Amino acid sequence: MSWIDPEFPRTAEPSDLVGRVLGLNPGMLTGPGTNTYLVGRADPILIDTGAGVPDYVPLFEGYLRRRGWTRPAQIVLTHRHRDHMGGVAPLGDRFPGIRVSKMIFKDAGLPEGIHDLRDGQRIQGDGVTLVPVHTPGHASDHLCYYLPEEQALFTGDLILGGSTTVIPDEDGDLGQYLDSLRRVQALGVRRIYPAHGPVIEDAPAKIQEYLDHRMLRERQILAALGNGARTIPEMVKAIYADVPEALHGHAAMSVHSHLKKLKREGRVLEEPLAGAPSRWTEASGVRQ
Ligand SMILES: [Zn+2]
Repeated sequence: MSWIDPEFPRTAEPSDLVGRVLGLNPGMLTGPGTNTYLVGRADPILIDTGAGVPDYVPLFEGYLRRRGWTRPAQIVLTHRHRDHMGGVAPLGDRFPGIRVSKMIFKDAGLPEGIHDLRDGQRIQGDGVTLVPVHTPGHASDHLCYYLPEEQALFTGDLILGGSTTVIPDEDGDLGQYLDSLRRVQALGVRRIYPAHGPVIEDAPAKIQEYLDHRMLRERQILAALGNGARTIPEMVKAIYADVPEALHGHAAMSVHSHLKKLKREGRVLEEPLAGAPSRWTEASGVRQ
């Protein structure tokens, strides 16, 4: 997959206020790996911590030294997924007493001592402000962080550089995800710092592209239903003909997220079957 870019820089300074250290956890879902961001002119705030890969902490320390910094002022997290908070424990060992915050929401089994952070609860750094924006859809506890000094947004996994976001079956919700995209669209953001992949310079275009992409999928699903596809595997076959089979599991999850949204809107009907995939049909009289 092209978005697992082996040449992706391990560290970078995308702006005067923002430094970046790569989590060193490349993969199909993480691209080149999770980006961790250091925000501020001095005593930087760290956004996300990577997956807990052993080589990350030495890379992180080397980067701090090069910038003349001794430690991050505090850590804030975008959401609970392992590739974002796996580094909390090793960084806590290396920087004892460091404050770690996230939005605590439907969380079980969080490490001890994590502070709750709410939508709109501003964090002041050196020459920077971070404003948490609750943006569920990929994960119910998901926060983006708005940086007014640059009209920039740290999007976590809401928007990625080089791929689309997975809407997991259990904790994801496509309807909420689209609402979150519209919410950040209304912020008037210019630049996006995603948790995976390169900086996105034209934020409005990318947000619109993300919305358009989901709308296209919805039309494709309704068309597949119109053409007689009844089960998710049949729909995946019709819509993802040009996508390698290895990714059909994720495609099925994506189709399911759309069907759940359409069902809630009363536009499709689900007929659950014991021991077989549900059969789906368009609700009669409803035409998109
Ligand atoms: Zn995630």
